[in-house]
This record gives sequence, C-alpha cells and structure tokens, in this order.
Amino acid sequence: MKLVRNYKLFPGRNKFFCGGRLMTSREYWAFILALILLIAPSVLFGIFTCPFIWEHVHPAIPIVFAYLFVLSLTSMIKTSWTDPGIIPRDLDPFPVLERYEDPGSPYSESMWHHGVPSQKEVRIKDKTWTLRYCDTCRIYRPPRASHCRQCDNCVEVEDHHCIWLNNCIGSRNYRPFFVFINTATLLCLFVIVFSIVHLLLVWREQNTTQQVTFNSVFDAAPVSFVLAIVCLVLLLMVGGLTLYHCSLILRGITTHEQLRASVMTKHSDLSANPYNKDNPVLNMATVLCRPRPKR
Ligand SMILES: [Zn+2]
Ligand SMILES: [Zn+2]
Repeated sequence: MKLVRNYKLFPGRNKFFCGGRLMTSREYWAFILALILLIAPSVLFGIFTCPFIWEHVHPAIPIVFAYLFVLSLTSMIKTSWTDPGIIPRDLDPFPVLERYEDPGSPYSESMWHHGVPSQKEVRIKDKTWTLRYCDTCRIYRPPRASHCRQCDNCVEVEDHHCIWLNNCIGSRNYRPFFVFINTATLLCLFVIVFSIVHLLLVWREQNTTQQVTFNSVFDAAPVSFVLAIVCLVLLLMVGGLTLYHCSLILRGITTHEQLRASVMTKHSDLSANPYNKDNPVLNMATVLCRPRPKR
C-alpha cells in the first residue's frame, strides 16, 4: 500500500511546503508588506546611519542592531511558517451515540446536534468545564482552543489569526511571536534614538564651521531624518501591541478570551481557563517557558 503523508489528506485552508514541515495560510500580501516594513528601514539604517554611528559613537551599536534584526526576522518567519497547534480532525466523529436514546443521559434535547451532543462537560482541578463540539473538525474542543475561520482548523490555545504573519498564533508559535513583537519594538527604538543621535552630531559638527539650518542638517543626513519619523509611526503600532500582549500574558489570558469577555457582560469569564495560575509571574513563566507541543 502506498503511504500518503498526513498533510496531503488535510482538508483545512493551510498551505504546506517541504513535505509538511513548513505551513502557512493563504493570504500572502500582508505578510510580504510586513516583511518589507521590517527589512527596508533596517537595511537603510544599516547603509546610511550605521557607518556614522560606528565611527563617531561606538562599533557595538551597529553590532547589537544587526543581532536584533536577525532575531526579529527569524522569529517572524518562524511564527509565520510553523504549525500554530492545529488539533487533528475526526477525533470524536460520532461520540457517545448510544447515549442519544438513554433516558438517563445528562444531555437535554437542545444540546444535540447532528446526532452528537453539542457540548460535554469535563472536570479539571475540581471544576467543571464545558467542551464545545466543532462540526467542521468533528472534535470536542479542549479548553482555550477555538476554530479559526481563515485557516478552517481548531487551534490549541488560539490567541488570534494574524493577517500580517499569515498564520494563527497558538500554543506552538506564541513564543516566537512574542519574541518578534518585542525585538521589532526594540528595533524601532534603536532606529529612532540613533537616527536622532546622527542628526544631533551632524548639527554639532556643522555648528563649529558654518551657520546651521534645518536644511543643512537634513541635506547631510536625509535618510536618518525620514527613518526617525517612519519608525516612530511603526513604534506606536508594534509597541502598543507588545504592551497589550505583556498585559495578556501577566493575566494568563489570550486575545481571543479578552475579546470574548469584553463583548460579554460577565467579566468573571476572563479567568475562565483551567490553566490560569492567579499569579502574574507564574502566568508569564507558563506562557514563555512551557514545552512546545508536538505537531
Ligand atoms: Zn474546528
Ligand atoms: Zn488562522
């Protein structure tokens, strides 16, 4: 019998490469734009500002910048091209069907859907949690998992679907995602600070020999001037996102849970996951140090 790789039988909307080792979603344009927004300012800073900083400030600064850039780019590609924690399909195709006719069944009439109960209850840490049935994947979703409409899969601890990275952010790629947004924030800060340093040093240099004007400084370092403004705009976006995710991690919740709680009136739902440690440091350790689940 000819063996077929699992990913070739996979009915979701993801695309697979390299024998299923790499995967991503289908909308490439935003990912390519995000890649350009990361690479273009970094390369311009490396070509036009770094040689001046190397010579007039310290060689360590361009080296640290290059390290942050490589870390940011690799974590971005890793987040975008790895399995976010897709839950295999058909784990519960027709579960507990015999209980349908059982008068003592705990499931009421309204809880039945296509011959299977639409939800079931499990006990975790002495509390009862409701697992909902996913009709598409034909599984009972574990706590914190949800179905991504863009990818058409259930994803374990799904945080959100990121159009910029063209992938879901879940249990398997949250860590590289967090590294990416942090290093991208640091890169923006780096470019803003050292572009301003470049302009100030040019201003000081010109001040000793001639009358300094805005135009004379701009003409000497036009790229640093433009980069400082562009990166300020990028910093407001990616820096805000980083702060938001830091607060989510400390509270032990995902973006999905936060959004769901904000549209529901019951805010007690925010702590409704069996893995919340009720301690910000432990919550952070759980998210950033937990082992990566298998594909
Ligand atoms: Zn599903
Ligand atoms: Zn997705």
